[in-house]
Amino acid sequence: NVEIGSAPFLAVLNDLYSQYKLLKEGTLANYIPELAKVNPELFSICIVTVDGQRYEVGDNQHQFTIQSISKVFAYGLALEDHGRDYVLTKVGVEPTGDAFNAIILDEQSKRPYNPMVNAGAIATTSLIKGSGATERLNRVLDMFQKYTGQNALVDISVFTSERSTGHRNRAIAHLMLNFGMIDQNIEEVLDLYFQQCAVMVNCQDLAVMAATLANRGMNPITGEQAIDSRYIKDILSVMYTCGMYNFAGEWAYKVGIPAKSGVCGGIMAVVPHKMGIGVFSPLLDVRGNSVRGVKVCEELSQRLGLHLFECS
Ligand code: GLU
Repeated sequence: NVEIGSAPFLAVLNDLYSQYKLLKEGTLANYIPELAKVNPELFSICIVTVDGQRYEVGDNQHQFTIQSISKVFAYGLALEDHGRDYVLTKVGVEPTGDAFNAIILDEQSKRPYNPMVNAGAIATTSLIKGSGATERLNRVLDMFQKYTGQNALVDISVFTSERSTGHRNRAIAHLMLNFGMIDQNIEEVLDLYFQQCAVMVNCQDLAVMAATLANRGMNPITGEQAIDSRYIKDILSVMYTCGMYNFAGEWAYKVGIPAKSGVCGGIMAVVPHKMGIGVFSPLLDVRGNSVRGVKVCEELSQRLGLHLFECS
């Protein structure tokens, strides 16, 4: 295994970058025109260690919308707002083999299966406290700011186009309203969900956010506590079992670290007590995961010996 912080460590990143830069498989997310406009060549890998060292290669400053990766952080905020027991009555922690946008709830409890599928993410966002839409949005933006150490901004065109085309998410919200799992104000909840998905980040931000989760909730660059450390294990557990769409099982088996991906082409992976990894490359496989991102993480895990259950 390569030592973190050593020169060979950066060499591994450069190696992976040049190797997978040649891989051009996959398609851009096109469910909204805004996402299909991105340059498919973009590619970056960034690692931030829990002691604040940063290693990176590629287009690390390129901004994209965080999309599904936001679900992880919204879940953390809902846990802080209500505690574990209450949140569990509203959103389960069971992986599904179904697509992330499946219109399906648990037969018995009527809860969405987990906070990483859209149903669970919308229910989670509905739990975020605040006296009105603006206060809730500001709380979400403040939260992102703590995790990244940067100003959090919403990409208005992505938000607007999600809002005007998000009928499937609207249907999911109505189904949950029917079962009393979320409150009346569906349009406000959906707005906040679309806004959190449209928060702009770059690959470096993903790595810092992941490193914050790896570092018991404290941002290793700013020293700020972004989330109560007692909820880190809840967040990482659902990332581990449900974070990679319906590839989560194979990911856990091969890569072996908690991660979350989004249709933006980002993947954020957390190596507890060690480091956060961000990879960005917008070409996606059929499950919605970045093609290069998955390959890079598989190989990084192998070469750096990151699998949580590695014994050799
Ligand atoms: N805003 C997207 C949606 O709810 C997120 C998709 C994703 O990244 O999986 O459909």
